[in-house]
Amino acid sequence: MRKIFFRTLLTIAILCTSSLEAQKRPKNMENQQPNSLAENPKLVVGIIVDQMRYDYLTRFESHFGEGGFKRLINEGFNCKNNHFNYAQTSTAPGHASVYTGTTPSVHGIIGNNWYDKVSGSMVYCVADSTYESKGTLTGAGQMSPHRLNVTTITDQLRLHHQMRSKVIAISLKDRGAVLPGGHTANAAYWFQGHDEGKWVSSSYYMEKLPDWVVAFNESGKVDSYKKPWNTLKSIELYKESGPDSNRYEHLWEGEQAPIFPHDIPGLWEENDQYELIKYSPYGNSIITDFALEALEQERLGTDGITDFLSVSYSSTDLVGHEYGVNSKEIQDIYLRLDLELERLLKTLDKQVGQGEYTVFLTADHGAMHVSAYLEDKKLPGGNISRDDFTPSLEEFLKYRFGTTDILKYHSYSQLFLDHEVIANLDMNPREVQELIALEILSYKGVEQVYTAFQLQHSSYMTGIPRLLQNGYNQKRSGDIFYILESGITDSPIGSSHGSPFAYDTQVPLIFYGKGIRKGSTLRKTEITDIAPTIAGLLGIAFPSGTTGDPVTEVLK
Ligand code: ZN
Ligand code: ZN
Ligand code: ZN
Repeated sequence: MRKIFFRTLLTIAILCTSSLEAQKRPKNMENQQPNSLAENPKLVVGIIVDQMRYDYLTRFESHFGEGGFKRLINEGFNCKNNHFNYAQTSTAPGHASVYTGTTPSVHGIIGNNWYDKVSGSMVYCVADSTYESKGTLTGAGQMSPHRLNVTTITDQLRLHHQMRSKVIAISLKDRGAVLPGGHTANAAYWFQGHDEGKWVSSSYYMEKLPDWVVAFNESGKVDSYKKPWNTLKSIELYKESGPDSNRYEHLWEGEQAPIFPHDIPGLWEENDQYELIKYSPYGNSIITDFALEALEQERLGTDGITDFLSVSYSSTDLVGHEYGVNSKEIQDIYLRLDLELERLLKTLDKQVGQGEYTVFLTADHGAMHVSAYLEDKKLPGGNISRDDFTPSLEEFLKYRFGTTDILKYHSYSQLFLDHEVIANLDMNPREVQELIALEILSYKGVEQVYTAFQLQHSSYMTGIPRLLQNGYNQKRSGDIFYILESGITDSPIGSSHGSPFAYDTQVPLIFYGKGIRKGSTLRKTEITDIAPTIAGLLGIAFPSGTTGDPVTEVLK
């Protein structure tokens, strides 16, 4: 009897607990479901720093405050060994690759400009004369993403949420805004310098500039930066860069030496007015100013649907090209960029809420030391331009094929051949490619040469040929591709980029905020991993051409 009683009690107890469990479970699962499948940040902020090497983070670390780069690194996830996985690197392919999760072989943006085989003329990556400028009487606004062959992470976000996500893309450079915004951005804005100093856009996005953009343009904010550029801290403290005056730096028109202070107001007219602001850290400041205005006016990250703000800091690239990797000017612009990031993050905390947004920060390519500096320090380097090859190449073409017409265009380390001329000569294109490739390989400073036939018929797994193959687009690329030796470039002044070497490929990649683990890795990650990582975080479909993989360590 007692036994039965206890057994009954036990059964009742079990039943009670399990029914309690049953009652609890659906509620729990309801709470967990959105978390288990996807994070739902109110806003994703994608930051691209134009021409940022990874080692700028470590070189200038002691000067950074706690609220900018360090905040992202210490509270976020730092991929310390992140690389571009294609050649050639430049701004347009870089921005396209970050946002599409694939390489130029797939997304089609093979350069900033390229020779178009169909029209037989050079094309600019985002130029589109079928649209009108908004905010400028010049053609600077006639842009669209029509040459981008696949979708971006921003497109996928818009598609996922029935176009209710807001996507705004901002950069000084049109390509730095248009490509991240993808095909469906609500707006992309870029900066028209010269005598205008205005934020502009294209009729691709809008019928007219929103009132808040017009008001910003008229506010005089940009003009407030027409002031001398001096160093942020005392220049004696800048021990992580070379002497201010040296022979590796460009001079602004009218400047006697490439040294601080750079007199922006005094040199204004001689240097095309607002262009001068772009070539100083103030160019980055007006990007932050405008991005924060967009954040507020467009009410980004204020409802339950994830929005996306793309910010591309362009002035770092222009300053790098002017003064080089080792300059005081580069050190200064990165110390100041640290403050721009702090300002951006603080406002995001206030407006969107700390822990409610997700950030990634990366670059569109790195940069090499000034080649003349490398030579002076007995490092591999030197100065060669394509024009140095022209006489020998023309002589070879005449001698071997009887005409130079066989070469249609020679641009950015690739050669486009005239296939009609080849057919008229009754030659095999593959054979012609190989003969010219062999000739170019014999030129001083050339390290490797590949033909389109090789890139189409082999599958390279490592090294420079893999990078070339990822950069090779069957419909758009040329016939012959050459790589100059490490440290060789076409200008002895300022820093350049575009090579497949580590100084160009290694760039920062930091994730921060909602859904992101704290940590770091030295495992190799690639630029095409960013979009699938964000897609994984948001639980949305990958961009259509994705070839990268999510960086799984990053996600909670
Ligand atoms: Zn760039
Ligand atoms: Zn200097
Ligand atoms: Zn550049």
